[in-house]
Amino acid sequence: MHISKGTVAAISYKVSTAEGEHVDASQPGEPLTFLCGIGQIVIGLEEALIGKQPGDAVAVDVTPERAYGVSDPGLNLSVPSSAFPEDVRERLRPGMQFQAEHPTKEGETVVFTIHAIQDGDVLVSGNHPLADKTLHFEVTIESVRAATKEELEHGHAHGPGGHHHH
Ligand code: ZN
Repeated sequence: MHISKGTVAAISYKVSTAEGEHVDASQPGEPLTFLCGIGQIVIGLEEALIGKQPGDAVAVDVTPERAYGVSDPGLNLSVPSSAFPEDVRERLRPGMQFQAEHPTKEGETVVFTIHAIQDGDVLVSGNHPLADKTLHFEVTIESVRAATKEELEHGHAHGPGGHHHH
């Protein structure tokens, strides 16, 4: 069976940046299982996998636009620490994340990551850490099957490597 919308595929993968920096990889014997066609994986990778079958190996470079997007300079902010509630102010550290309203898009929330704290200002970014990155994927297709009715209803794959909530 070939990968297409509505199939569940298991893939072994390795991903790095275009500069060769390791990003992520599946563990040996523990492929990633995903339901194709719902944006569960990076769209540029999904497109490259359509039509492939078990045993196929795929190497593909995915541009930021088809991966984690292009960063928005408006989401790199300097916030006075006094803007944070008093009880968390003392505990602010680089790497901490918090949700806040999008500075310009009403009704949208953004996950911000603290990058630095300087002279009472907290430098935060709401951009994805992989924004602006071209990603290089090396993938081997392990298995492909039709999604069950239940998986299609839930919008995710079940079973090993998939969702485990049942
Ligand atoms: Zn489910």
